[in-house]
Amino acid sequence: MKNLLCLHGLGCGGDTISLLNAEEPDLLTALEMLDINVVWHPSISLEKGDDVKQICSDFASGKRRLDLFIIEGAVPTGPDGSGRIYEFLGRPFIEWVRDLAAVAEHTIAVGTCAASGGIPAAGPNPAGASGLQFMQDKTGGILGDGYRSKSGFPVINIPGCPSHPDWILESLSLIARKKLLPEHLDYANRPAHFFNNLAHHACPRNEFYEFKASAEEFGQMGCLFEHLGCRGTQCESDCNIRLWLGRTGSCTRAGSPCISCTSQNFPLPDTNYFKTETIAGIPKALPKDVPKAWYIGMVGLSKMATPERLKINAVSAHNKYQKKVEGK
Ligand code: SF4
Ligand code: SF4
Repeated sequence: MKNLLCLHGLGCGGDTISLLNAEEPDLLTALEMLDINVVWHPSISLEKGDDVKQICSDFASGKRRLDLFIIEGAVPTGPDGSGRIYEFLGRPFIEWVRDLAAVAEHTIAVGTCAASGGIPAAGPNPAGASGLQFMQDKTGGILGDGYRSKSGFPVINIPGCPSHPDWILESLSLIARKKLLPEHLDYANRPAHFFNNLAHHACPRNEFYEFKASAEEFGQMGCLFEHLGCRGTQCESDCNIRLWLGRTGSCTRAGSPCISCTSQNFPLPDTNYFKTETIAGIPKALPKDVPKAWYIGMVGLSKMATPERLKINAVSAHNKYQKKVEGK
């Protein structure tokens, strides 16, 4: 039986809500299959006050073995590095996190806020919010670059705003079955196989993208990259392959651009995520690994070859081309 403790820092709790939506299998079945004992979780456990303090103290002192230590939400360091802006069980939250991370077999940051600061760390950041081992794309965070849990791992990051329930449960499964090795983590200390695709891969708007047949307004069928801010070509995630909510949806399938919520620098300050910033008509943020000159050349050729069907449908809410062919 592996003991799991979860604490919440600065965040909305969305990763927990996402996890409670796990379906294949559901959360309780997964925990049972993996022999994981949730000793305390702020959203689903009954204990409060002194009982929680006793649980945390027993783990921190080594009286009880802490196998899986999960943090959701960013950790505040303010004011002046004291962390006193957020007191938890009579001490600054940051002190609990450091003490518990020191004894944990695995420390896991769930969600972009815990992994790299996320929304609380964006902008002026008066709370001094930070991720556990990253502050945006800089290593360090509140535990420091050299931190390793007792099993020899850095903080295992499972970002997302929120994280996909599969990313969380499958990571826990790999960890619990000792199938995850440090070399399976990528440059951001994420289990690589969830994040070595782009959100763009398998998006149903791919054909529109290839021919630069772009939606001009929300609710239209075309690609959202050229005008409506989509960052799917830069965002490392498998959202359009794995799908969400009963394997039916993704942001772009629902008509919303990918805002690259798994990125270490999410959210970018002063950014309109629903409008593509351009310079001389060329999007400022280009597809990952595509040289600018190649992109410009490709756009010109693609637009010359765009089929009539895509031109019409890109700016339509439904398949208008088909209706035109059928004379309706
Ligand atoms: S909408 Fe975004 S993810 Fe979909 S094809 Fe266009 S750029 Fe790619
Ligand atoms: S499609 Fe992009 S914004 Fe949407 S959940 Fe996936 S990574 Fe986040």
